[in-house]
Amino acid sequence: MEKEIKRFVKCDVCKNMIEIDKYGNSNACPNCGWLQSEESYQHPNVPGIRNIPSLLNAIRQYDNGGSATLANFNDFIEAYNNYGEVEFTLNNTRYGVLYDDKNKKIELLNIQTNEKQLYINIEDFVQNAKLNGILLKEQWHNVTNTDFLQET
Ligand SMILES: [Zn+2]
Repeated sequence: MEKEIKRFVKCDVCKNMIEIDKYGNSNACPNCGWLQSEESYQHPNVPGIRNIPSLLNAIRQYDNGGSATLANFNDFIEAYNNYGEVEFTLNNTRYGVLYDDKNKKIELLNIQTNEKQLYINIEDFVQNAKLNGILLKEQWHNVTNTDFLQET
């Protein structure tokens, strides 16, 4: 058995030194939380590759004192389009966005209560998704976490 060779490189977002595996992937950067990947380095404009934000937006946000892992609304929607099942946290409540195979609609799921809202397609979701009577796109700045849909 060959001993696995570990390599240290700079985090693509914060430039902290991190350890990567032979595929170029890292665990969450201890400094900024970014999950390094060769693929996001190759496609810096594409959200939803290991992280919800695109690499370029993660760098922009981090350089402005913000989070490297919290996605803006556009990146979140694009991550949904690219990956399929994503979640966000708003007012300490987790919500999933996923495709409902049975109804052939986009489902906005309150993960705590299991309450569901259905939208015709992602465009309908972008324009009309509402939580607590307010359009989601208009309260996205209050979102505190974005991620791929985790086990509930
Ligand atoms: Zn980092």
